[in-house]
Amino acid sequence: MRFAPSPTGYLHLGGARTALYNWLWARKTNGVFILRIEDTDVERSTEDSVQEILDGLTWLGLDWDEGPFLQSANLDQHVDAAQELLETGHAYRCFCTKEELEQQRQEAEARKVAFMYDGRCRKLSKDEVEAKIAGRVPFVVRFAVPRDPGATVVFEDIVFGRQEKRCLDIEDFVVLRSDGRPLYLLSNAVDDRLDRITHVIRGADGLANTPKQALIYEALGWAPPTFAHMPLTLDSKKTKLSKRRHGEVVTIAYYRARGVLPWALCNFMALLGWSSGDAREFFTREELIEAFDLSRINRANAIFNYVPGDPKNWTDPKLIHFNAHYLRTLPLDELLPCVKEELQRTGLWKDSYDHNERQWLRDAVELMRARFHTLEDFSTTGRFFFADEFRVDPKAVQRNLCKDAHTHAYMSQLAPRFQELSSFDKTSTEETIRSFAAELNVSAGLIINGCRTTVSGSAVGPPLFEMLEAIGKERVVNRLKQVDRMIAVCG
Ligand code: GLU
Repeated sequence: MRFAPSPTGYLHLGGARTALYNWLWARKTNGVFILRIEDTDVERSTEDSVQEILDGLTWLGLDWDEGPFLQSANLDQHVDAAQELLETGHAYRCFCTKEELEQQRQEAEARKVAFMYDGRCRKLSKDEVEAKIAGRVPFVVRFAVPRDPGATVVFEDIVFGRQEKRCLDIEDFVVLRSDGRPLYLLSNAVDDRLDRITHVIRGADGLANTPKQALIYEALGWAPPTFAHMPLTLDSKKTKLSKRRHGEVVTIAYYRARGVLPWALCNFMALLGWSSGDAREFFTREELIEAFDLSRINRANAIFNYVPGDPKNWTDPKLIHFNAHYLRTLPLDELLPCVKEELQRTGLWKDSYDHNERQWLRDAVELMRARFHTLEDFSTTGRFFFADEFRVDPKAVQRNLCKDAHTHAYMSQLAPRFQELSSFDKTSTEETIRSFAAELNVSAGLIINGCRTTVSGSAVGPPLFEMLEAIGKERVVNRLKQVDRMIAVCG
């Protein structure tokens, strides 16, 4: 198995899904997963793009067993293959100039037929060819597609089934340019042979090229690999996903930056074009490897439900749902490194969270995570756990602190009561609040809501008493004392 990206841009959802399916199949069959960077398009390939691919795969946890190999390192073998095709009569030199080809194209256009090189150089005699070589006439090497009227090329695709194409419909395609550089189609096939690839799992856009590659294999006497072409991923309006049209939302780097957990993304991508056949949606790594099967890849295009401009559903809502599920259920030890990365990114991380406040952090994360959708929520919605400067929701203040004119005074009075507690925990804070409310003859809810908004700036969040315990006595008391800072918004 191999993932063979061209490093000409960013790592996108479609590419990462290809990598994932190859990785899953390799892990399931105890195969070898190879990473091959197809960098032969020198003008468009960049170092940055290679780095983004490596970073993206590493972050996703799609570890490769061999590579990264560079396609450009095999150029000699690609040229050798073209040479062998020439020697065995499966290819020929074509001396037609650009102008001649252009003329042929225009003639075809005038006759309203699709242009296909007519193979005139195939008919040159040996002497004619030698004379041209001696005269240093530039040439390309073209594959000599069988021309018997009934000839077909056939290959099996696990997803799309048996594919058969008439050779008469296939042009004598170029395998070597006039400057001696091989064409991608040839390089890709030769590399799969060199890398001992048994399964070519790639996007359905590769399907159209496969007959030509099957011809190359046959001509070189090589058994072809097994092909499995995956459906395209389209948006809800059936448009192919692209950065130009859809923006960052199609790139893997974006999900990392937006606080998506790598496994949530893998699980989501696995279901873009594949289903287990039962109702399961969530899979652990092991479960997915176990359940994955190439024969269950769908033929129908996969739909990525993204509607631009919806701030709540900033990507496919299913992915957000998956991420929330994993934030809630992942073993804490797996989640904590991701939370650490997020808090470091936003400057909220303290070294003590790795030492004496380790348990505190665990408890706080455990408490927070039930309601969160992305890792970002730890430093936005959950910021009040880590810092005294946090966002205050004016609506929450209106409702919980302004509506009853006395509430903010109650908060100032609650502060010394909390201060006196020798043990500040969920039981003692609850008792304090309830008896305080009873003394005042007000509902406990009034104090509870007021207290929540004063210490967190919000009207919603984790259970209050556990939250107070996690924030800690000193911070809670200080925030209650400073309640006046909040009520500025009361009209
Ligand atoms: N380099 C090709 C691409 O990025 C890969 C084609 C293949 O997997 O065979 O589209």
